[in-house]
Amino acid sequence: MAVSPVAALASNQTPGLVCAHHHLYSALARGMPAPPADPTSFLEVLELVWWRLDQALDLDMIEWSAKLGALEALEAGTTSIIDHHESPRSIEGSLDTIARACAEVGVRVECAYGVTDRHGPEGAQSGLAENDDFLSSGGRGRVGVHAAFTCSDETLATAADLALEHGVGVHIHVAEGPDDREAVQRLAELSTDDWLIVHGVNLPSDHGLRGTIVHNPRSNMNNSVGYSAPARFSNPVALGTDGIGADMLEEFRLAFVRAREADLAATPDDSWGWLSTGWDLFPEAATDRVTWSYEDMDPWHLVYTPTIGAVDIDIDGEPALADGRPTRVDADEIRAKAREQARRLHSALADMPYPVGARP
Ligand SMILES: [Zn+2]
Repeated sequence: MAVSPVAALASNQTPGLVCAHHHLYSALARGMPAPPADPTSFLEVLELVWWRLDQALDLDMIEWSAKLGALEALEAGTTSIIDHHESPRSIEGSLDTIARACAEVGVRVECAYGVTDRHGPEGAQSGLAENDDFLSSGGRGRVGVHAAFTCSDETLATAADLALEHGVGVHIHVAEGPDDREAVQRLAELSTDDWLIVHGVNLPSDHGLRGTIVHNPRSNMNNSVGYSAPARFSNPVALGTDGIGADMLEEFRLAFVRAREADLAATPDDSWGWLSTGWDLFPEAATDRVTWSYEDMDPWHLVYTPTIGAVDIDIDGEPALADGRPTRVDADEIRAKAREQARRLHSALADMPYPVGARP
Protein backbone atom coordinates (compact mmCIF):
# COMPACT_ATOMS: atom_id res chain seq x y z
CA MET A 1 0.00 0.00 0.00
CA ALA A 2 1.33 3.42 -0.90
CA VAL A 3 2.39 5.53 2.04
CA SER A 4 0.41 8.77 2.08
CA PRO A 5 2.69 11.80 1.85
CA VAL A 6 1.27 13.28 5.04
CA ALA A 7 2.01 10.13 7.06
CA ALA A 8 5.67 10.34 6.06
CA LEU A 9 6.11 13.83 7.52
CA ALA A 10 8.35 14.49 10.52
CA SER A 11 7.10 16.90 13.20
CA ASN A 12 9.20 19.72 11.74
CA GLN A 13 7.86 19.15 8.21
CA THR A 14 4.79 20.06 6.19
CA PRO A 15 3.83 19.64 2.55
CA GLY A 16 4.57 22.63 0.30
CA LEU A 17 2.22 25.49 1.16
CA VAL A 18 -0.15 26.91 -1.46
CA CYS A 19 -1.03 30.54 -2.11
CA ALA A 20 -4.49 30.34 -3.64
CA HIS A 21 -4.60 33.94 -4.89
CA HIS A 22 -1.55 36.02 -5.76
CA HIS A 23 -0.66 38.90 -8.07
CA LEU A 24 3.01 38.29 -8.82
CA TYR A 25 3.12 41.57 -10.76
CA SER A 26 2.78 43.48 -7.51
CA ALA A 27 6.17 42.26 -6.20
CA LEU A 28 7.75 45.44 -7.59
CA ALA A 29 5.15 47.73 -6.01
CA ARG A 30 7.10 48.16 -2.78
CA GLY A 31 8.67 51.60 -2.62
CA MET A 32 6.56 52.96 -5.46
CA PRO A 33 5.69 56.67 -5.55
CA ALA A 34 2.69 57.75 -3.49
CA PRO A 35 -0.58 57.84 -5.44
CA PRO A 36 -1.43 61.20 -7.05
CA ALA A 37 -4.27 61.65 -4.53
CA ASP A 38 -5.27 59.90 -1.30
CA PRO A 39 -7.82 57.13 -1.92
CA THR A 40 -11.04 57.53 0.07
CA SER A 41 -12.76 54.28 -1.03
CA PHE A 42 -11.82 50.83 -2.28
CA LEU A 43 -12.66 51.85 -5.85
CA GLU A 44 -10.23 54.76 -5.51
CA VAL A 45 -7.54 52.38 -4.21
CA LEU A 46 -7.95 50.54 -7.52
CA GLU A 47 -8.05 53.71 -9.61
CA LEU A 48 -5.20 55.54 -7.88
CA VAL A 49 -2.85 52.64 -7.18
CA TRP A 50 -3.39 49.28 -8.90
CA TRP A 51 -4.97 50.38 -12.18
CA ARG A 52 -2.09 52.80 -12.69
CA LEU A 53 0.53 50.21 -11.78
CA ASP A 54 -0.84 47.54 -14.11
CA GLN A 55 -0.84 49.99 -17.05
CA ALA A 56 2.87 50.67 -16.53
CA LEU A 57 3.93 47.01 -16.72
CA ASP A 58 5.94 45.62 -19.63
CA LEU A 59 7.24 42.08 -20.15
CA ASP A 60 10.66 42.74 -18.53
CA MET A 61 8.99 44.04 -15.38
CA ILE A 62 6.55 41.11 -15.41
CA GLU A 63 9.41 38.61 -15.74
CA TRP A 64 11.45 39.96 -12.82
CA SER A 65 8.51 40.63 -10.56
CA ALA A 66 7.44 37.00 -11.10
CA LYS A 67 10.96 35.74 -10.33
CA LEU A 68 11.17 37.84 -7.18
CA GLY A 69 7.67 36.77 -6.09
CA ALA A 70 8.47 33.11 -6.76
CA LEU A 71 11.78 33.37 -4.87
CA GLU A 72 10.10 34.95 -1.86
CA ALA A 73 7.38 32.30 -1.96
CA LEU A 74 9.97 29.54 -1.96
CA GLU A 75 11.86 31.14 0.94
CA ALA A 76 8.57 31.11 2.89
CA GLY A 77 7.84 27.41 2.21
CA THR A 78 5.22 28.12 -0.46
CA THR A 79 5.80 25.79 -3.40
CA SER A 80 2.67 26.52 -5.42
CA ILE A 81 1.10 29.80 -6.48
CA ILE A 82 -2.26 30.50 -8.11
CA ASP A 83 -1.63 33.79 -9.89
CA HIS A 84 -4.01 36.38 -11.30
CA HIS A 85 -2.38 38.76 -13.75
CA GLU A 86 -3.23 42.05 -15.48
CA SER A 87 -0.97 44.19 -17.67
CA PRO A 88 -3.20 46.00 -20.19
CA ARG A 89 -0.32 47.37 -22.29
CA SER A 90 1.57 44.05 -22.40
CA ILE A 91 -1.05 41.33 -22.56
CA GLU A 92 0.28 39.00 -25.25
CA GLY A 93 2.81 36.52 -23.87
CA SER A 94 2.43 37.75 -20.27
CA LEU A 95 1.20 34.42 -18.88
CA ASP A 96 3.99 32.49 -20.57
CA THR A 97 6.50 34.97 -19.12
CA ILE A 98 5.16 34.34 -15.60
CA ALA A 99 5.08 30.56 -16.06
CA ARG A 100 8.70 30.49 -17.30
CA ALA A 101 9.90 32.76 -14.49
CA CYS A 102 8.37 30.53 -11.82
CA ALA A 103 9.67 27.36 -13.50
CA GLU A 104 13.18 28.79 -13.39
CA VAL A 105 12.93 29.32 -9.62
CA GLY A 106 11.32 25.89 -9.28
CA VAL A 107 7.95 27.01 -7.91
CA ARG A 108 4.69 25.71 -9.36
CA VAL A 109 2.31 28.28 -10.77
CA GLU A 110 -1.18 28.38 -12.17
CA CYS A 111 -1.83 31.43 -14.36
CA ALA A 112 -4.85 33.50 -15.35
CA TYR A 113 -5.20 36.78 -17.21
CA GLY A 114 -7.82 39.04 -15.60
CA VAL A 115 -10.18 39.94 -18.43
CA THR A 116 -11.90 43.32 -18.10
CA ASP A 117 -13.87 45.81 -20.21
CA ARG A 118 -12.06 48.74 -18.56
CA HIS A 119 -10.02 49.17 -21.72
CA GLY A 120 -12.86 48.72 -24.19
CA PRO A 121 -13.97 45.63 -26.13
CA GLU A 122 -10.51 45.24 -27.76
CA GLY A 123 -8.90 45.04 -24.31
CA ALA A 124 -11.37 42.37 -23.21
CA GLN A 125 -10.77 40.48 -26.44
CA SER A 126 -6.99 40.55 -25.95
CA GLY A 127 -7.37 39.27 -22.39
CA LEU A 128 -9.60 36.41 -23.51
CA ALA A 129 -7.13 35.57 -26.29
CA GLU A 130 -4.21 35.51 -23.83
CA ASN A 131 -6.06 33.02 -21.58
CA ASP A 132 -7.03 30.96 -24.62
CA ASP A 133 -3.50 30.90 -26.10
CA PHE A 134 -1.88 30.01 -22.78
CA LEU A 135 -4.32 27.20 -22.02
CA SER A 136 -4.28 25.92 -25.63
CA SER A 137 -0.49 25.61 -25.53
CA GLY A 138 -0.73 23.37 -22.45
CA GLY A 139 -0.27 26.03 -19.76
CA ARG A 140 -1.69 25.36 -16.35
CA GLY A 141 -4.36 27.86 -15.48
CA ARG A 142 -7.90 29.03 -15.18
CA VAL A 143 -9.60 31.74 -17.21
CA GLY A 144 -9.09 35.00 -15.33
CA VAL A 145 -11.70 37.71 -14.98
CA HIS A 146 -10.97 40.92 -13.08
CA ALA A 147 -14.41 41.32 -11.51
CA ALA A 148 -18.04 41.36 -12.62
CA PHE A 149 -18.33 45.13 -12.07
CA THR A 150 -15.67 45.88 -14.71
CA CYS A 151 -17.12 43.43 -17.27
CA SER A 152 -20.19 43.37 -19.48
CA ASP A 153 -22.54 40.41 -19.25
CA GLU A 154 -21.30 39.34 -22.66
CA THR A 155 -17.65 39.30 -21.53
CA LEU A 156 -18.55 37.33 -18.39
CA ALA A 157 -20.44 34.74 -20.44
CA THR A 158 -17.63 34.47 -23.01
CA ALA A 159 -15.03 33.95 -20.27
CA ALA A 160 -17.17 31.28 -18.59
CA ASP A 161 -17.63 29.52 -21.94
CA LEU A 162 -13.89 29.66 -22.64
CA ALA A 163 -13.22 28.06 -19.26
CA LEU A 164 -15.72 25.26 -20.01
CA GLU A 165 -14.08 24.73 -23.38
CA HIS A 166 -10.72 24.21 -21.67
CA GLY A 167 -12.14 22.13 -18.82
CA VAL A 168 -11.01 24.63 -16.18
CA GLY A 169 -12.70 27.13 -13.87
CA VAL A 170 -12.75 30.93 -13.78
CA HIS A 171 -10.54 32.87 -11.34
CA ILE A 172 -12.39 36.09 -10.46
CA HIS A 173 -12.59 38.77 -7.75
CA VAL A 174 -16.12 38.77 -6.32
CA ALA A 175 -17.76 41.31 -4.00
CA GLU A 176 -14.45 42.60 -2.65
CA GLY A 177 -15.95 46.07 -2.30
CA PRO A 178 -19.46 47.55 -2.40
CA ASP A 179 -19.18 48.30 -6.14
CA ASP A 180 -19.48 44.60 -6.92
CA ARG A 181 -22.68 43.78 -5.02
CA GLU A 182 -24.50 42.83 -8.25
CA ALA A 183 -21.99 40.04 -8.85
CA VAL A 184 -24.18 37.37 -7.23
CA GLN A 185 -27.03 37.80 -9.71
CA ARG A 186 -24.71 38.26 -12.67
CA LEU A 187 -22.62 35.15 -11.98
CA ALA A 188 -25.39 32.92 -10.63
CA GLU A 189 -25.94 31.00 -13.87
CA LEU A 190 -22.26 30.85 -14.79
CA SER A 191 -20.24 29.58 -11.81
CA THR A 192 -19.09 25.97 -11.51
CA ASP A 193 -17.34 24.02 -8.75
CA ASP A 194 -13.89 24.73 -10.19
CA TRP A 195 -14.26 28.52 -10.01
CA LEU A 196 -12.09 30.53 -7.62
CA ILE A 197 -14.24 33.22 -6.01
CA VAL A 198 -11.79 35.67 -4.51
CA HIS A 199 -12.67 37.81 -1.43
CA GLY A 200 -16.48 37.49 -1.20
CA VAL A 201 -16.53 40.15 1.52
CA ASN A 202 -19.93 41.49 0.47
CA LEU A 203 -21.48 38.16 -0.49
CA PRO A 204 -24.56 37.04 1.41
CA SER A 205 -23.97 33.78 3.29
CA ASP A 206 -26.46 31.95 1.05
CA HIS A 207 -25.11 33.46 -2.19
CA GLY A 208 -25.45 30.18 -4.13
CA LEU A 209 -22.29 30.69 -6.21
CA ARG A 210 -20.27 27.54 -6.85
CA GLY A 211 -16.53 27.25 -6.38
CA THR A 212 -13.85 27.81 -3.73
CA ILE A 213 -13.90 31.10 -1.83
CA VAL A 214 -10.39 32.52 -1.44
CA HIS A 215 -9.94 34.53 1.77
CA ASN A 216 -7.18 37.21 1.81
CA PRO A 217 -7.19 38.60 5.36
CA ARG A 218 -4.17 40.92 5.12
CA SER A 219 -5.32 42.49 1.85
CA ASN A 220 -8.88 42.95 3.11
CA MET A 221 -7.61 44.74 6.21
CA ASN A 222 -5.19 46.83 4.15
CA ASN A 223 -8.00 47.94 1.81
CA SER A 224 -10.46 48.49 4.65
CA VAL A 225 -13.13 46.46 2.84
CA GLY A 226 -14.37 44.63 5.95
CA TYR A 227 -14.31 41.03 7.16
CA SER A 228 -15.63 38.34 4.87
CA ALA A 229 -16.20 35.94 7.82
CA PRO A 230 -15.51 32.96 5.54
CA ALA A 231 -16.63 30.41 8.15
CA ARG A 232 -20.23 31.34 7.22
CA PHE A 233 -19.94 29.94 3.68
CA SER A 234 -20.79 26.36 2.72
CA ASN A 235 -18.20 26.54 -0.11
CA PRO A 236 -14.64 25.30 0.45
CA VAL A 237 -12.44 28.19 1.68
CA ALA A 238 -8.76 28.64 0.76
CA LEU A 239 -6.18 31.29 1.71
CA GLY A 240 -4.47 33.79 -0.58
CA THR A 241 -2.38 36.92 -0.19
CA ASP A 242 -3.83 39.04 -3.00
CA GLY A 243 -0.30 39.99 -4.03
CA ILE A 244 1.23 40.90 -0.67
CA GLY A 245 3.96 38.23 -0.75
CA ALA A 246 3.34 34.51 -0.40
CA ASP A 247 4.16 33.85 3.25
CA MET A 248 1.30 31.47 3.92
CA LEU A 249 2.18 30.73 7.54
CA GLU A 250 1.85 34.44 8.18
CA GLU A 251 -1.41 34.63 6.23
CA PHE A 252 -2.70 31.66 8.27
CA ARG A 253 -1.82 33.47 11.53
CA LEU A 254 -3.63 36.57 10.31
CA ALA A 255 -6.65 34.52 9.23
CA PHE A 256 -6.75 33.12 12.76
CA VAL A 257 -6.48 36.38 14.68
CA ARG A 258 -9.00 38.08 12.35
CA ALA A 259 -11.42 35.18 12.87
CA ARG A 260 -10.76 35.35 16.60
CA GLU A 261 -11.45 39.07 16.67
CA ALA A 262 -14.92 38.34 15.29
CA ASP A 263 -15.53 35.17 17.33
CA LEU A 264 -13.58 34.06 20.39
CA ALA A 265 -14.53 30.44 19.63
CA ALA A 266 -12.53 30.44 16.36
CA THR A 267 -9.67 27.91 16.48
CA PRO A 268 -6.31 27.55 14.77
CA ASP A 269 -7.62 24.30 13.30
CA ASP A 270 -10.30 26.26 11.39
CA SER A 271 -7.68 28.52 9.79
CA TRP A 272 -5.36 25.57 9.11
CA GLY A 273 -8.30 23.92 7.35
CA TRP A 274 -8.51 26.94 5.01
CA LEU A 275 -4.78 26.73 4.32
CA SER A 276 -5.15 22.98 3.69
CA THR A 277 -7.75 23.60 0.97
CA GLY A 278 -4.76 24.73 -1.10
CA TRP A 279 -3.83 21.05 -1.46
CA ASP A 280 -7.18 20.36 -3.13
CA LEU A 281 -6.43 23.14 -5.62
CA PHE A 282 -2.78 22.13 -6.14
CA PRO A 283 -2.58 18.41 -5.25
CA GLU A 284 1.11 18.05 -6.20
CA ALA A 285 2.04 20.50 -3.45
CA ALA A 286 0.98 17.87 -0.92
CA THR A 287 3.89 15.71 -2.08
CA ASP A 288 6.44 18.52 -1.64
CA ARG A 289 8.44 18.47 1.60
CA VAL A 290 9.22 21.58 3.62
CA THR A 291 11.53 21.21 6.63
CA TRP A 292 11.08 24.14 9.01
CA SER A 293 13.18 25.79 11.71
CA TYR A 294 10.59 24.71 14.32
CA GLU A 295 9.90 21.27 15.75
CA ASP A 296 6.11 21.25 16.16
CA MET A 297 4.35 22.23 12.94
CA ASP A 298 0.98 22.01 14.65
CA PRO A 299 -1.68 24.73 14.14
CA TRP A 300 -1.92 25.51 17.88
CA HIS A 301 1.84 26.03 18.05
CA LEU A 302 2.06 27.94 14.78
CA VAL A 303 -0.46 30.68 15.51
CA TYR A 304 1.53 31.73 18.56
CA THR A 305 5.03 31.16 17.17
CA PRO A 306 6.08 33.88 14.75
CA THR A 307 9.26 33.88 12.62
CA ILE A 308 9.38 30.21 11.71
CA GLY A 309 11.50 29.80 8.58
CA ALA A 310 11.74 27.21 5.80
CA VAL A 311 15.15 25.49 5.87
CA ASP A 312 15.00 22.78 3.20
CA ILE A 313 12.43 22.15 0.49
CA ASP A 314 12.05 19.29 -1.95
CA ILE A 315 9.74 19.87 -4.88
CA ASP A 316 8.92 16.81 -7.00
CA GLY A 317 11.52 14.99 -4.90
CA GLU A 318 14.33 17.38 -5.92
CA PRO A 319 15.88 20.04 -3.66
CA ALA A 320 14.68 23.59 -4.40
CA LEU A 321 15.83 25.18 -1.13
CA ALA A 322 18.80 24.03 0.96
CA ASP A 323 19.79 25.71 4.23
CA GLY A 324 17.41 28.55 3.37
CA ARG A 325 19.03 29.25 -0.03
CA PRO A 326 17.44 28.46 -3.40
CA THR A 327 19.28 25.69 -5.25
CA ARG A 328 18.26 26.53 -8.83
CA VAL A 329 18.72 30.28 -9.08
CA ASP A 330 20.98 33.01 -7.72
CA ALA A 331 18.85 34.87 -5.16
CA ASP A 332 21.15 37.91 -5.14
CA GLU A 333 20.93 38.23 -8.91
CA ILE A 334 17.13 38.03 -8.86
CA ARG A 335 16.95 40.72 -6.18
CA ALA A 336 19.35 43.00 -8.09
CA LYS A 337 17.54 42.60 -11.43
CA ALA A 338 14.14 43.01 -9.78
CA ARG A 339 15.37 46.22 -8.17
CA GLU A 340 16.40 47.57 -11.60
CA GLN A 341 12.96 46.77 -13.01
CA ALA A 342 11.30 48.30 -9.95
CA ARG A 343 13.15 51.54 -10.66
CA ARG A 344 11.85 51.53 -14.26
CA LEU A 345 8.33 50.83 -13.01
CA HIS A 346 8.42 53.54 -10.37
CA SER A 347 9.70 56.16 -12.79
CA ALA A 348 6.96 55.20 -15.29
CA LEU A 349 4.43 55.69 -12.49
CA ALA A 350 5.92 59.03 -11.49
CA ASP A 351 5.62 60.18 -15.14
CA MET A 352 2.08 58.87 -15.66
CA PRO A 353 -0.42 61.68 -16.18
CA TYR A 354 -3.26 62.07 -13.69
CA PRO A 355 -6.11 61.66 -14.16
CA VAL A 356 -5.21 58.97 -16.65
CA GLY A 357 -7.80 57.90 -19.22
CA ALA A 358 -9.18 54.42 -18.78
CA ARG A 359 -8.12 53.49 -22.28
CA PRO A 360 -4.40 52.97 -22.85
ZN1 LIG B 1 -6.62 39.97 -6.16
